[in-house]
Amino acid sequence: MLLKIENLHVKYGNIEALHGINLDVNEGEIISILGANGAGKSTTLLTISGLLRPSEGSILFNGDALHKLKAHQIVAAGIAHIPEGRRVFSTLTVQENLRLGAFTSADQQQIQKNQEWIYELFPILEERRNQLAGTLSGGEQQMLAIGRGLMSSPKILLLDEPSLGLAPILVKTIFQTLKQINQAGVTLVLVEQNARMALKIAHRGYVLEVGNIVLQDTAQALLANQDVQNAYLGGA
Ligand code: ATP
Repeated sequence: MLLKIENLHVKYGNIEALHGINLDVNEGEIISILGANGAGKSTTLLTISGLLRPSEGSILFNGDALHKLKAHQIVAAGIAHIPEGRRVFSTLTVQENLRLGAFTSADQQQIQKNQEWIYELFPILEERRNQLAGTLSGGEQQMLAIGRGLMSSPKILLLDEPSLGLAPILVKTIFQTLKQINQAGVTLVLVEQNARMALKIAHRGYVLEVGNIVLQDTAQALLANQDVQNAYLGGA
């Protein structure tokens, strides 16, 4: 098992947002986390990447205690987080943004290799490599945010709402590329409002409700589950 979350409690001040969740991620998987607004999905990702600290419980990565490391050490250990809302550096070029994603590495050859791979995954980024990130479309900025995450050679990519606000055609492209990234060996943990698309590419999924995991199953079983359909798939 690559990532093991056990009895994870996370608080904002006195208010507990996660009430002791357990979640496992195996190497090579795509895991989808479903849940309504405020269920605790972003909180889960922020805690894995060390931006929030658990009040109780543990996160093990390859058996090591991740929850004791600082955020930059967690990136260096092999976990990259693509936050909600993209957050690219708008006054830097595409290429400069990508280079910043490699801040944990001194291996120029690896950096070059990663950059070539990212330009292969997202050819539009190569075309626009000297353009300021702030002038890119929303979809291109999302591609850049994913590319920047990949620059650190992650074993796990945490994605928070990668399809938010994108046109349907672009959503399809992003999901296809995520599948490609996974097939290249990167494990994905995917938080998505677009639950149907997420489950279609995922191997397994977890359903979060107000800070608790209430259901976990294969993606196929979740897609067929009547409660999941009613709550997250528009009843279809
Ligand atoms: P969304 O899709 O709306 O982002 P989510 O499932 O990602 O939802 P979280 O953002 O993890 O949910 O929020 C979980 C709970 O923690 C919510 O009750 C939310 O109001 C609360 N919360 C989140 N961020 C903060 C914060 N910075 N300070 C206080 N409470 C917060």
